[in-house]
Parts: sequence; C-alpha cells; structure tokens
Amino acid sequence: MENGERGKTLLREFRDPEKLPTELTFRTNYRAKWKCLKCKQAWRARMDNRTRSVRPSGCPKCANKTPRKPMSNSNNFLTWCNANGDRGKKLLREYVDPDREPTQVTKASRYKALWKCETCEHEWRAWMYSRTTTSVRPSDCPQCNLRGRKKKRQRDD
Ligand SMILES: [Zn+2]
Ligand SMILES: [Zn+2]
Repeated sequence: MENGERGKTLLREFRDPEKLPTELTFRTNYRAKWKCLKCKQAWRARMDNRTRSVRPSGCPKCANKTPRKPMSNSNNFLTWCNANGDRGKKLLREYVDPDREPTQVTKASRYKALWKCETCEHEWRAWMYSRTTTSVRPSDCPQCNLRGRKKKRQRDD
C-alpha cells in the first residue's frame, strides 16, 4: 500500500468475513465490514467512501463522540494538585517549567517538565506522570534521593 499510515489503519480495520482485501479495489462501492481499532465497534461502509482522500468515512461511533477539548479543566495538572492534598501542593510548588503553565499539562502526561526541589533547590526534568503517579513510587528530586541513599548506607555501616 502506498498510503502510509492511513493505508495501514484501513487494512487493519478491514474485517470483512466474505472478502479478502486483495479481492477488492479501493474504488468499489462494496459495503465491507470494518472494525474500529480504537473503540472495537464493527460497522459496514463502502470501500470508496473509506479510501477517498477527501473526508473519508470513519468509525461512526468515534465520529459521534463529541470532540474532547485537549485540556479540560478536570484533568489538568493544577486541578490535580488542588485535589491531592499535601502531595499536590508540594508538586505545584516544585513545578517551575518555563514553557507550560500548570493548566497546560495533564498529570498523566509524558511531558518532561522542569522541577525545582523545595529542599535542596536542585532543578531537574521529569515526566509529569512519573511525579504524579500513585500506583508506583512517584519520582522525587534525584539529588535528595541520592543523599537519602548515602545516609542510609552510613547508618548501615
Ligand atoms: Zn471507533
Ligand atoms: Zn532535592
């Protein structure tokens, strides 16, 4: 296929029980069966409608979903901080990223933000999600971590 990502997606979504992709041309009006990669919804749509380059048809279920705003109030970092007590307050104080406001990132983002340690004033970059996670140990200031480990080693001696 010479249609790159779009072609690959279509091929993966093609789930017709009666026809093979090789039996059909992309311009045919045969209503093939498709299965959405995102929501697993199965539906039938004409080949030509799906493969045309101008406004191709897609999964009806996904199309019906109201487009979500990229950054809603409920999932931005600031909101998360306000809802997460002391940990949230500490993270908000340590967040010193020059490029994005706390409202412009989400707590689960893979954005590498700039942080400044409250304790030792060390600055470092860390993924948002690595600092806000509650399922595994959240990451903290690497310099303080190092010191903590050294202290522990001394105590062990
Ligand atoms: Zn879908
Ligand atoms: Zn520190």
